[in-house]
Amino acid sequence: MATIKKQKNERIIEKKGRGNRKCRICNNPNALLRRYRLNICRKCFREYAEEIGFKKYN
Ligand SMILES: [Zn+2]
Repeated sequence: MATIKKQKNERIIEKKGRGNRKCRICNNPNALLRRYRLNICRKCFREYAEEIGFKKYN
């Protein structure tokens, strides 16, 4: 029981702290790119890369 309680508390702390790990454009929590602190998913990165300043190399 004590262990479960602890896990729950850790989860809450994570959510409160740096739990904002989802795409800021489409809110997709998967395939996130945290590089350069963009916090966008791969899909949106491909779409917004040029806008942000990244160039495609192919
Ligand atoms: Zn996205």
